[in-house]
Amino acid sequence: MTFIDKLINNTIRADVRAIGGYHVPDASGYIKLDAMENPYRLPAHLSEELGRRLSAALLNRYPVASYATLKASICRHLGVPPGFDVVLGNGSDELISMIAMACARQDRRAVVLAPVPAFVMYARSAQFAGMDFVGVPLQADFTLDMDAMLAAIALHRPAVVFLAYPNNPTGNLYAADDVVRIIEAQGENGLAVVDEAYEPFAQHSFMGRLPEFANLVVMRTVSKLGLAGLRLGYMSAAPALLEQFDKVRPPYNINVLTQTAAEFALEQVAVLNEQAALLRAARGELAARLAGLPGVEVFPSAANFILIRVPNSDELYAKLFDLKVLVKNMGKMHVVLANCIRVTVSTPEENSVFFDAIKASLA
Ligand SMILES: *Cc1c(COP(=O)(O)O)cnc(C)c1O
Repeated sequence: MTFIDKLINNTIRADVRAIGGYHVPDASGYIKLDAMENPYRLPAHLSEELGRRLSAALLNRYPVASYATLKASICRHLGVPPGFDVVLGNGSDELISMIAMACARQDRRAVVLAPVPAFVMYARSAQFAGMDFVGVPLQADFTLDMDAMLAAIALHRPAVVFLAYPNNPTGNLYAADDVVRIIEAQGENGLAVVDEAYEPFAQHSFMGRLPEFANLVVMRTVSKLGLAGLRLGYMSAAPALLEQFDKVRPPYNINVLTQTAAEFALEQVAVLNEQAALLRAARGELAARLAGLPGVEVFPSAANFILIRVPNSDELYAKLFDLKVLVKNMGKMHVVLANCIRVTVSTPEENSVFFDAIKASLA
């Protein structure tokens, strides 16, 4: 063994050595429909104004540590209830790891639980924090298996249950009553984190219900709203709980460029909301066209992506790839996703390119 191999064996955790990195394919030259990005940009006059704001940002200074202005703007524009504040993260990915870090008690087995298939960062963050991850399979129609969820909660007493609302990669909204039953089953023993990354496309939210449940955390991001490059997530919960999460947050986790750009974008949130409305309309149109293709099963979506089942997802993925269209092959992720492909809803032009490509590939 070489020096570096010995060094790695002696220092890096075995479970970290064993896993692969988070793989993101190089998309240059492709129509990129694999990552739920908003295809629209800010209009030219707004991006010019943004440029002026960014050039005035104080890059030589640390960010203002309280982030008071940005937080106030988020609370005002994004429906955070009166009396509630937010904690900011470098994307909601960082919020998920902050929650895990804050809850990874070492005096007894600490558990993170989520229905599966779910967003992969729930399990990863749990693992990295030294917690156990328990995944409870969804039913074949992607609804929650409530008997199994409640039994698993009673058995494992999870510190955290993550529920993506709507779920990624399935795209469906869980029944609100089921979510409430899970929040209540957690009670004072555990948190229920409702991850609303796709709220602009779902238009259903638990944010307004924060005052009802002291153990509810509502997490969101500006990524799917058209600002994935900024890396900004926020979560709200009972103030005493937020105070605890804030202790594990790296002090300057939101950089001044993100802070400045996000404050500007929130002043223009109407523009982003219009883009979301276009994508919601395009989602309906694309879903209807896909449903007309023989052999394609389209699942209902409350997000800016559509999950479909095809005769052979490996084959279709490869054909689309050859046609320079990048989607996400979900076929191997979980048994309930057999032969499923996830495609981001984009502009009418890109949706048509995708549609023509899938039609040709399945012919
Ligand atoms: C995309 C996604 C996120 C990640 O958001 P970032 O803010 O970009 O880190 C979180 N949760 C779910 C369910 C997602 O699909």
